[in-house]
Amino acid sequence: MDEAETADVAVIGGGPAGSVLAGLCAKAGLSTVLLERETGPRYRIGESLLPATLRQVLPLIGAQDAVDAETYTVKRGATFSWGADKQDIWTLAFGPDQADDPPLALNVDRASFDEILLSSAQNCGATLLRGYDAISVGDGDAQQGRSVTYFHRQSARQNALHARFVVNATGQMRLNIPELDAREHSHFFRKVAVWGYWTGGGRLDAPLDGNVFFETLETEHGTAWVWYIPLRDGLTSVGVVAPRDCLTKLRVDPRAGLANWLATCPRTTKLLCNATPAEHAPYDQVSLCADYSYASNAFSAPGIVQIGDAACFVDVLLSSGVHLATYGALLAARSIKAALSGAIPEDVAMAEYESRLRQEFSVFYAGLSGLYDMEKRSQDYVGWLRALLQNSNGVLMERGQTLDNPGGLNVGGASCSDAELHAQAQRNLTMMRGYNSYQLTYDGPPKATPIAALPAIHNLLAIDEYGEWIMPAHKRTPAPPTV
Ligand SMILES: Cc1cc2nc3c(=O)[nH]c(=O)nc-3n(C[C@H](O)[C@H](O)[C@H](O)COP(=O)(O)OP(=O)(O)OC[C@H]3O[C@@H](n4cnc5c(N)ncnc54)[C@H](O)[C@@H]3O)c2cc1C
Repeated sequence: MDEAETADVAVIGGGPAGSVLAGLCAKAGLSTVLLERETGPRYRIGESLLPATLRQVLPLIGAQDAVDAETYTVKRGATFSWGADKQDIWTLAFGPDQADDPPLALNVDRASFDEILLSSAQNCGATLLRGYDAISVGDGDAQQGRSVTYFHRQSARQNALHARFVVNATGQMRLNIPELDAREHSHFFRKVAVWGYWTGGGRLDAPLDGNVFFETLETEHGTAWVWYIPLRDGLTSVGVVAPRDCLTKLRVDPRAGLANWLATCPRTTKLLCNATPAEHAPYDQVSLCADYSYASNAFSAPGIVQIGDAACFVDVLLSSGVHLATYGALLAARSIKAALSGAIPEDVAMAEYESRLRQEFSVFYAGLSGLYDMEKRSQDYVGWLRALLQNSNGVLMERGQTLDNPGGLNVGGASCSDAELHAQAQRNLTMMRGYNSYQLTYDGPPKATPIAALPAIHNLLAIDEYGEWIMPAHKRTPAPPTV
């Protein structure tokens, strides 16, 4: 099939967010079309992943075996030369080394990883249209739903797809949908990133050899830091994240700017002493990116939802991008399914998605801004992050900790009236939008204490197999009888 005219769900963008959502919706029995503009594997930054994505979300679309069959680099955590203990290196581990099954993550090349997710979405039943570029989303009508206008890049043939729900998963340079256009940029994370690739870079001693390594450095505009991500086949992704004021000078010669900064980092220099800049495409490029920390003012409008980078992104530190993209895709799929089945009004379902993703965003926002306080000791950073993660539904669920921690997710509203459900959804949404806009605009290190976990909306949790992940069966309140 190389064209489609109708679907329950039209997903635009086949990155991690779009593929996970398309796979879950198709698996839930919704006819799902996934449009991806690239015809084959494409390069993307965002190589270092969290256990959350790999161990809990990917199995839901059957991607686990194919990912395990690759030779991606196993990552046990992040290792730092950072803060008041910068003279030593210290590690934030995902779990104790001696645990039988410690949570592990991977560093991946996104071209192959994203292909696996696309194939998994297809295996779940989604129709993948490759080489098709969506150009606009129209109002549509009550009978046919929203319309997506798209064209085939090779033939320039144009077509329209009508869907009951449209998902914008087009990433940071997202497809413009006027109703969802407004975005608020962070004042705190005003950064620029510059990065390239080396072959033959050294590794930390085992068992830290797959860890991402971070080292701080000073620039004329303040403190910056290096990421050093060991990839497979001797390749290493190395970048610097610096205050945005460095951008003007950096633009003149990004390669020289990156090299000059790396030369001031003793540990990174040592790791790169036998390495040479990669010479094969796409790794022979040095890239620049700025203004990447933002949240959309609204994540959904009637019949449309934004997920992944199209909705929000915090910061490069600590690999939250693909986690927010895939966890958000899971939340959005759950809400779409609940809304399209008629189990719950669409605005309530979407408020649940948005407020829960905003909460995860806020946990990472506060956690990461705490790491930028360079005066702290290593144990303070680790304690700070562990405490914050108590408020993370996404991360805690993935580590199974809610089994012993019922406070982590609170199921309520089993006997809610529709009016109560609406009111609760609206309260959650208003609270989280207000909280996020405060986070995005403050100027300085963390002043906010994390907020309590949101009450869940019962009807969303009761149905799907992936509800089991959100709330294990034995902790659910029985679904109210349908009338
Ligand atoms: C410097 C930097 C470093 C980062 N490092 C990390 C990291 O180490 N770990 C991490 O987890 N995250 C990292 N990220 C973030 C990560 O790259 C993103 O969060 C992640 O890729 C978001 O996934 P997505 O599916 O939302 O979007 P994307 O991965 O951007 O996918 C969007 C897809 O949509 C397609 N598309 C776009 N427009 C259209 C259209 N009109 N029609 C059809 N298709 C379209 C694109 O071709 C693409 O395939 C980093 C980000 C930056 C800026």
